[in-house]
Formats: sequence, structure tokens, C-alpha cells
Amino acid sequence: MTRSAQHFDVVIIGAGPAGLFAALTLAPRLRVLVIDRKDRPGGAGGATDGKLNLSPHIGLDLDELRLSEEAAEGYIATVDRVFLEHGADPTLHGTDAGRIQGWLERVSWVRRRTPKGGWDITLVPVRQRHMGSDFAHQVSAALAGTIRRRGGMLLLETEILDLRLGEGGDLLVDTSRGPFHGRFLLAAPGREGAYWFREKARALGVETGHGAIDIGCRVEVASAVYDEITAVLYDPKLIFTTPTYQDRTRTFCTNPGGRVRVEQHQGFRLVNGDALKANKTANTNFALLNTVTMTEPLQDTTAMGQQVARFANFWGGGESLICQRWGDLMAGRRSKRQGFYSASLGFDKLTPTLPPGPGVTPGDISFAYPGRIVRNLQESLELLARVIPGVAHPSTVIYVPEIKFYDVRYPTSLDLETGVPGLFVAGDGAGKSRGIVGAAVNGLMAAEGILARAGLG
Ligand SMILES: Cc1cc2nc3c(=O)[nH]c(=O)nc-3n(C[C@H](O)[C@H](O)[C@H](O)COP(=O)(O)OP(=O)(O)OC[C@H]3O[C@@H](n4cnc5c(N)ncnc54)[C@H](O)[C@@H]3O)c2cc1C
Repeated sequence: MTRSAQHFDVVIIGAGPAGLFAALTLAPRLRVLVIDRKDRPGGAGGATDGKLNLSPHIGLDLDELRLSEEAAEGYIATVDRVFLEHGADPTLHGTDAGRIQGWLERVSWVRRRTPKGGWDITLVPVRQRHMGSDFAHQVSAALAGTIRRRGGMLLLETEILDLRLGEGGDLLVDTSRGPFHGRFLLAAPGREGAYWFREKARALGVETGHGAIDIGCRVEVASAVYDEITAVLYDPKLIFTTPTYQDRTRTFCTNPGGRVRVEQHQGFRLVNGDALKANKTANTNFALLNTVTMTEPLQDTTAMGQQVARFANFWGGGESLICQRWGDLMAGRRSKRQGFYSASLGFDKLTPTLPPGPGVTPGDISFAYPGRIVRNLQESLELLARVIPGVAHPSTVIYVPEIKFYDVRYPTSLDLETGVPGLFVAGDGAGKSRGIVGAAVNGLMAAEGILARAGLG
């Protein structure tokens, strides 16, 4: 016997920042249901580091969203206020204009013009907050509490299995707890649900495309090396134009006093990083990312990223990350378990937070990764070492694969409605954001669109 569907005005896939901020806006005015397979709200954002980047140029693609800088600033101010109201640490980093100016000058002294007319290294100052992996989930729980008080419903530990078009244009969501009807459906499945949702969306007739993918590495240095900049800019955003290929790379997700972490995906493992608020390590880690786009004969950046991840894991001995000392990489030799802490090579200066062991193999990233990307990453670290010399110490550890899968694209209206009426998309899984604040901004935009379509705008 099939169970009859419960009816809601809006069904939201995903209780990450995109889904939660949409629900906060919609719940007082419409019947809202948020569904997530996890046992707590917050999505990737609630389970992780929780750096809030308060800039329209970080974590948001203004061109993709067709959003002006001023409009983005307005949304970001709302997101920031809501996070603060729900317990985010009020400490604001990146506000010391004098010291930031000092860093801008330091960068300006070492940077050079590239053949194409740009600069080889650029620092972008950003105001930031840091919730910490130990507190971000509490903020997400508080957001969920407000949604419930406003009349919204959260259904956790519930897998969404299928999406269907019902009679009269309603959208039907089949879940592990039975079916639900929505006049509107907002899909905010994050990176982890991006490809599952893409298949479902295509089956409903939604147009999709491929965007850029970020392929890079995680770099771990002693905090003493990086403290002088992270004390001023918590997560310094440096953009590079690499000398050989004139490609664009950037620093991303810096974690002062943080930990390098494993990110398990279906069929492969990636590296990532985070930091706790209460407990600091002696190290700092950050990602160096190389943005890759594809034209012909292939556009499928998803398949490309997955192949790179699997091959790197294969080279690590099977579903294993590779770590390599910078000194070994520059000397053209692999790192080995034996000698990984060699004092004579200077490797005893840094004890990695994700040391060689099961699932983490000392090796050679130049065998495991495409040549152009390895060259770009090496050159980027060398450019960074012009500003902060210690990053190129032989003991620095490089981990691969680090890949950011936010490459699915959906043509949408300005308020994020797809070509299927009533079906909205938001967040990293829809290629519309690259971070917590950006995803939350998307949630607000989609909620405005839904309210307008419901005649409540
Ligand atoms: C280790 C790590 C550290 C990070 N640190 C930062 C940081 O410091 N600052 C920052 O800005 N960003 C950070 N990010 C990125 C940030 O978490 C994301 O950009 C953000 O969470 C995206 O929000 P979202 O709402 O689009 O998706 P998500 O937060 O990914 O939420 C999507 C939700 O959808 C659910 N879902 C998907 N498919 C289904 C299904 N079929 N059924 C049921 N539920 C489903 C998932 O369970 C998930 O909870 C980090 C990410 C990671 C992995």
C-alpha cells in the first residue's frame, strides 16, 4: 500500500546554510518542511570549521548570480546579523586597517607584472568571523530552533530518494519516511548531494551544465611561520597568476592552529582542514587551489575531478591520501615513511597533524597529479614564499587530493528558479556558492523568489 503524501507549501532538500536561511525566511509565512539525511542541522557548514567570509568577492560568484556588489553586501549583512543572533563568536577579524595596509604594501613590494598585464600575487583583505568546528553546530542548532518556533518543520535522518512531478505541477519528494508534496521545492543538497540531485533534476527536465572545478593541495606549516599574517587576516586570501602557464590559483580555507582532515566520498578520499575554537595545534594549514575549466573535447569537470581524485588515491596505495615534504618535492624525490622526520633534512621542524599512517601515504604528488596542476601549485607556493618565506621550509607538508566539487550549473531566474516552475536551487550543490555565507545568501535569494511566486513578495 502506498502512503499518501503530506502537503507543504515548500519542501527544502538539505539543512545546510542554504536550506536553513531559506527556511528562516519562509517559515513565518508558509508551511515549510526541511529534510536532511544527517542527524543534526547545519549540513557541511555545521559540521565544519565555520569561517564566515563577509565579502561579496569570496564564496559568491556575482556573475553567475547576476548580483550587484551592493545587493550582495546587503544580503551578507543580513546573514552576519542572523549568525550573531544565533550565537556566532562576535570577534571580527580583518578590521585592523593599519596592519592590513602593512600587508598590502609587503605584497606590493614583491609582486611583479605578468606577461598578460595582471599581477603574479594579489592580497584581497576580507572581514571574517570564526565559529570553530566545536561551536558551529551549536549555531546551526539555534537556527533550527528558530525555524521550529516560526512553525517550520525539520525532518532529520531522512533520506530523499526520488523527486517527481505531481498532478497540477506540484512536486513530490519520496523519502525514507514516505512521500511529501510541495507547491515549491528548494534543492540545496550541498556538494555531497550535487550529483545525485543533478540526475534527479535532469529526469524532471531541468537543464544543467558544467562549471569550473578547483583542484589543489593542502599545505601544512608551523603556525609560527604563518601567525604574523593570520593574526591580521584570519584566512588570508591570496590570488596568484602562475609564471609558466599564467593560470589562476588561490589560497583557501586557512586554519590557524588547525588540523588536516580526511573527507570521505563515495569511492575516493580527499583532504581538507579545520580548526577548533578551544584547542589549537602548533600548525596552520591552508589549501592552494587551481581553478580548472574545460572546453573541448570534454566539458565534464565532474568526471575529470573524480578521475584525478581516484588516481591520486590509487597512487597512494588505494583510497589513500598522499603527503610529501616540500623539501622532497623540490628535490624531485618521493617522501617515504623512513626519513619523514629526518633532522638532517630539516623535516623534524614540523610534526604533521595528519601524519603518515593508514590512509595517508608518503609519496610523490608529481606522479599522482596532472603535470600542469603540480607546476601551478609549486609556483604558487614559491610566490607565497616571497611574502612569507617560512612557507617554503623543507618540512612543509603537501597533501593531495584536495578537490572542490561545485561544478554543476543550473540556468535559473534571478531568484534561482529553474526552468521547471516551482523548482528552485541554492548553495554549493547548485554551483551558486562556495562557502557558508554564500550558501546562506543563496537561501535568502531563493526564499524571496518563492515568496514572490506565492504572491507574498
Ligand atoms: C571540512 C570542511 C570545512 C569547511 N570549512 C568552511 C569554512 O570554514 N567556511 C566556509 O565558508 N565554508 C566552509 N566549508 C564549506 C561549507 O561547509 C559549504 O560551502 C556550505 O556548507 C554549503 O552549504 P549548502 O547549504 O549549499 O550545503 P551543505 O552544507 O553541504 O548542506 C547540504 C545538505 O543536504 C543534505 N542532503 C543532500 N542530499 C540529500 C538527500 N538525498 N537526502 C537527504 N539529505 C540530503 C546533506 O546531508 C547536507 O546536510 C567547509 C567544508 C568542509 C567539508
